[in-house]
Amino acid sequence: MGIERTITLASRNAKKAVELGALLGEGWSVRSLSGLPHVPEVEEDGATFFDNAVKKAIEVSRHVGGLVLADDSGLEVDALGGEPGVLSARFTGRHGDDAANNVLLLDKLAGVALAERGAQFRCALAVARRGAVLFTCEGVCRGWIGLACRGDRGFGYDPLFVPEWEAAGAGTGLELGRTFAEISPEEKNQRSHRARAMRQLQDRLAEVASET
Ligand code: IMP
Repeated sequence: MGIERTITLASRNAKKAVELGALLGEGWSVRSLSGLPHVPEVEEDGATFFDNAVKKAIEVSRHVGGLVLADDSGLEVDALGGEPGVLSARFTGRHGDDAANNVLLLDKLAGVALAERGAQFRCALAVARRGAVLFTCEGVCRGWIGLACRGDRGFGYDPLFVPEWEAAGAGTGLELGRTFAEISPEEKNQRSHRARAMRQLQDRLAEVASET
């Protein structure tokens, strides 16, 4: 076995670090910021997911050694000009109230026909070292916003989001299948925006690791 490399996730969420560790597999050890209280909180005030991921990666990499990974993600709804976007977690103004966010999204789309309810989840990732970005990558998952919440799996906007592979027909004949909250976590984790961004990350990290 070769040398194990450590990457720090720019988040205090230890579960996210475990998930990422499983994805990166052997040779990588992933730690979160939960055991690093000296690293200050970074405000997510960017105009895009990309800006937020880059800002977090750069700022955290000024306080910890080695590679730092930051992510930011959310939902962009076509009929709302890309809203809620970077405000996804706090669409209603309160942070992390998923149920209220879903109600607000349904309200904003009231009267919008199914065929006009296209949307996408986007996940931006940035890797930095010593205050400089090494690379970024992004994953997008297209789909549709349903007419009502369905399913109790997942989190966030999952009960309203039907991925494109679950939809059939087009235009006024569009029919929506299962939401992200109705499919298995395994299926979501293989094809989601985060999964697509993470696959690119794996390739790029292997390159960076072999360069140093
Ligand atoms: P974070 O970047 O993982 O913290 O996600 C920010 C917000 O975007 C979450 O609070 C959710 O509202 C939304 N979001 C991001 N990814 C997903 C997803 O896979 N399903 C549902 N909502 C998501």
